[in-house]
Amino acid sequence: MTSLHIHTALLQHPQLSVALDKQVLLKMENTQPSGSFKLRGIGLLCQRAVAGGASHLVCPSGGNAGFAAAVAGAALGTKTTIVVPETTSAEVCQRIRDIGAEVIVHGALWDEANQYALRLCEQPGSIYIPPFDHHDIWDGNATLIDEAVLQAKQLGIDFDVVICAVGGGGLMNGVLTGLHRNNLAHIPLIAVETEGAASLSAAVSADELVTLSAINTIANSLAAKRVSAQSFAWTKQHKVHNVTVSDAQAVSACLAFADQMRILVEPACGAALAVAYQRLPELMPYKRPLIVVCGGIGVSLAALAGWKERFSL
Ligand SMILES: *Cc1c(COP(=O)(O)O)cnc(C)c1O
Repeated sequence: MTSLHIHTALLQHPQLSVALDKQVLLKMENTQPSGSFKLRGIGLLCQRAVAGGASHLVCPSGGNAGFAAAVAGAALGTKTTIVVPETTSAEVCQRIRDIGAEVIVHGALWDEANQYALRLCEQPGSIYIPPFDHHDIWDGNATLIDEAVLQAKQLGIDFDVVICAVGGGGLMNGVLTGLHRNNLAHIPLIAVETEGAASLSAAVSADELVTLSAINTIANSLAAKRVSAQSFAWTKQHKVHNVTVSDAQAVSACLAFADQMRILVEPACGAALAVAYQRLPELMPYKRPLIVVCGGIGVSLAALAGWKERFSL
């Protein structure tokens, strides 16, 4: 099966490398056709589902997961329905419809949209595409590490830590799957959340899975009240530094990244970049960090300008 995602560039960040006296590597997942890494995992899940006989893909997400499912459905020629809550903007709905998926607006909150999506999947041939909690998603996301390992070898740089943002943990699970299947189980992970959505940090502190009572962050793509059980399990099997950054720090990193690399990314991605821009102590022992530039379609010049003003940056 040819994959639905593309190979993305591995770049060195010139200014951060000089400023930190480190070799800072960037895996440019923002360049995926879906605008984020999500096409790797969700694409693979959709592809396997269709190969197994599914004729209708159903995904409850008005964010990058839904967009990736729509891109995958279009590439596979499979009927695709994205169920979103009423809070989803008309622009997002249109953007998903433009690539050929059906959008159903249902319920005030995500939970209601999700329940509706699950009901749709009771029809034969319909398959539920979750945003992060599925083995095929982790398997697909792991390909970003498979690629990065080969690319880093070509550059002659052996990265010594990986930095990625954590929402529900599908990206983190993929990164760790990738490290382990490439014999790099010794490379630590810096797992980054925003303060208002720190469900992995909460689980690690409590030493059990925690469901946050509320989410309070502008980094919508990190807004999972509870991480996957597998993400919490990984923290017991792999060296993971849990880090939280403020929304202001995430936005500040997006602004610096836009100026220096001339590329726009969501605050969810800014959170991972902030580890380097803020020179967080967890990064200091390492010399060759690999940052997953997870990307995201929920950003524009106008949105960045608005956040800049809101946080007085
Ligand atoms: C989904 C997403 C994340 C978080 O990924 P999880 O698998 O939910 O942890 C981070 N950044 C962007 C841009 C995303 O779309």
